[in-house]
Amino acid sequence: MAAARRAYEKVWGPMPGSERAKYLFRIARIIQERGRELAVLESLDNGKPIKESRDVDIPLVAAHFFYYAGWADKLGHAGFGADPKALGVAGQVIPWNFPLLMLAWKIAPALACGNTVVLKPAETTPLTALLFAEICQQAELPAGVVNIVTGAGATGATLVEHPDVNKVAFTGSTEVGRRIARAVAGTRKKLTLELGGKAANIVFDDAAIDQAVEGTVNGIFFNQGHVCCAGSRLLLQESIAEEFLARLRRRMGTLRVGDPLDKNTDVGAINSAEQLERIRALSQIGEAEGAERYTAPCVLPERGFWFAPTVFTGVSQSHRIAREEIFGPVLSVLTFRTPDEAVAKANNTPYGLSAGVWTEKGSRILWLADRLRAGVVWANTFNKFDPTSPFGGYKESGYGREGGRQGLEAYLDV
Ligand code: NAD
Repeated sequence: MAAARRAYEKVWGPMPGSERAKYLFRIARIIQERGRELAVLESLDNGKPIKESRDVDIPLVAAHFFYYAGWADKLGHAGFGADPKALGVAGQVIPWNFPLLMLAWKIAPALACGNTVVLKPAETTPLTALLFAEICQQAELPAGVVNIVTGAGATGATLVEHPDVNKVAFTGSTEVGRRIARAVAGTRKKLTLELGGKAANIVFDDAAIDQAVEGTVNGIFFNQGHVCCAGSRLLLQESIAEEFLARLRRRMGTLRVGDPLDKNTDVGAINSAEQLERIRALSQIGEAEGAERYTAPCVLPERGFWFAPTVFTGVSQSHRIAREEIFGPVLSVLTFRTPDEAVAKANNTPYGLSAGVWTEKGSRILWLADRLRAGVVWANTFNKFDPTSPFGGYKESGYGREGGRQGLEAYLDV
């Protein structure tokens, strides 16, 4: 904290935006150059398939630094006042599901605005954050601008409660988010929270079915379902439900679960024994509550933490698997008849992070996007991210936005 404060006051805060931009561009380029190394390390640490860390995580990390590098000298007269000021030192705490990408979402806008940071990665996935610190040194970023502190929840709490933090940014569970909101209440710290989700992925009878099946698979099995905006509730229009589920099961039969470092792997390892236990427990509750379970017929490796892609049908809105975030490769299927019913069911959740709509009717997409209480609504696609788009939740999914121009607001005094 002392190093971050010193760097903010002496070096980074007073530095012109055009100079800060040079460092951020340099960091972005080194991330690209060392992309393979970062991707392998991320898969080793997290368990996600290498094709995802190589083709999704790491390119998006670089894209975030490029995008916010471009903002560093353009903050004046961009809707934040003539000459907006950085807040000071940001304390940032992130989860294990997208370790380096969550770091990029936090650090890139903070630095672009002239803040310095102390960031704590999740206890099970600290490796790419530490390699990132090395990359900052390689980019000759002044000492103290970026500080990585590893540790468990208690270290995160110490960081959040530190009196010299000006801004707290947290991504993680709603439960811990609530605790952090309480810890920050009564201080003058700014706070943004990116929390859990239970997204509805809604398929209408006029949708391109095979495309929607593919999008559903991506929506829930990408990153083993360890995705805050995962399409974990599939809402099918009744008339196509049977046919859709038959095709979905067929597609699930082709998924390869196993070694994250194998380029052919579609679904990797569960991140920890604790998370595996949570997924198992909620799935058992799903069965006990009367939902019908289908498990993809795949061969799981013997050692390690694995969970086969799973679908529950016959799910009702009151079932716990329809309400609680499972954060694993488990899909709950509900049906609807009318668009109004689809909206009512989709919004019947304490969360509001994302939603998906599959239909060929443009007017229906707009009608739904307007009514779904979710920060992101994808149409005929799912789990698409872009640094230029703000991302964040309604309701229990948190507040504040990361990404886009809106992502800068959290790190500026306007
Ligand atoms: P978690 O809340 O248990 O942990 C997140 C981080 O908070 C970790 O670094 C942890 O060490 C730290 N932490 C724990 N207790 C703390 C405390 N009292 N004070 C400060 N820090 C503390 O969440 P998780 O299990 O690591 O991540 C999964 C959750 O994250 C899911 O609910 C998921 O939906 C959510 N998530 C949300 C987004 C988003 O953008 N909305 C993105 C990714 C993950």
